[in-house]
Amino acid sequence: MKVAIYSNDGFTSKKVATQLKEKIDASEKLEYDGLNPQIVISVGGDGTLLSAFHHYRDAISKIRFVGIHTGHLGFYTDWRDYEVKELVDSLEDDNGQSVSYPLLSIKVQYTDGGPDDSFVALNESTLKRINGTMVTDIYIKDEFFEKFRGDGLCVSTPTGSTAYNKSVGGAIINPQLNAIQVSEMASINNRVFRTLGSPVIVPPDETITIVPDSPKHNILTCDQLLISDRPIKSISYSICNDRIYFAQYRHTHFWKRVSNSFIGVHEDD
Ligand code: NAP
Repeated sequence: MKVAIYSNDGFTSKKVATQLKEKIDASEKLEYDGLNPQIVISVGGDGTLLSAFHHYRDAISKIRFVGIHTGHLGFYTDWRDYEVKELVDSLEDDNGQSVSYPLLSIKVQYTDGGPDDSFVALNESTLKRINGTMVTDIYIKDEFFEKFRGDGLCVSTPTGSTAYNKSVGGAIINPQLNAIQVSEMASINNRVFRTLGSPVIVPPDETITIVPDSPKHNILTCDQLLISDRPIKSISYSICNDRIYFAQYRHTHFWKRVSNSFIGVHEDD
């Protein structure tokens, strides 16, 4: 089985990546292949896993990810830095076991006459305005829903619901659900201006379209990346046809993962 390692530059991550590479090279069942891997092992935290996802984006349907956690939060990562041997044993016994989660498709049209863009996010996409209030029309399934005024909007996947979305008051969604969520960032609500004021979760057949009143001075992100500063005509969000696959050698109950990450370890753990 062909395996790649994608590590951040931290001291512990680099040490773990070296140990892992030595064990892969010594294995008769595993082969290191950074170009066409079947398994990508990310060594770091969630940020590293996000980078690994974007690095291998074009081959995403042929890859399963595994995360080794070397500090920070590690919401996506199942393995600890001291479990390299156990992970290599699991890789050698691999029988293709996997779990997959939804991704966010982002399609952008511009007013400059240039080509449209499309991107895929693992966590979320945000639209914010650098100067002044961001004013946009929001359509759901091609029907006008509301005019939003505020700092910005965050559209997230279920696995991304514990990231930026959570900080702006969005709901946490179990990634077994195929859905996307729109959360507001500091909306203006008074006698004159009104938004729904709560997160909205839509099913797979519903596209969310955002049309900014002003095409300029908007910042559009996809996970940790700034993806466009061209003048935006509209952005359409939907569930992507592709999904992300993780090699599932061990199972952590989703709500236990949430509880451990955000509330802390329980006394009975
Ligand atoms: P970062 O500032 O280093 O990471 C922000 C934090 O978000 C880190 O603690 C990271 O965990 C955690 N995180 C990332 N994905 C997560 C997920 N799916 N569930 C729970 N926590 C998650 O930035 P980065 O490493 O480049 O990551 C980019 C992400 O940061 C964006 O996709 C966005 O979700 C998040 N972000 C959050 C805010 C906010 O909450 N106000 C603002 C900007 C960006 P690790 O420590 O394990 O890497």
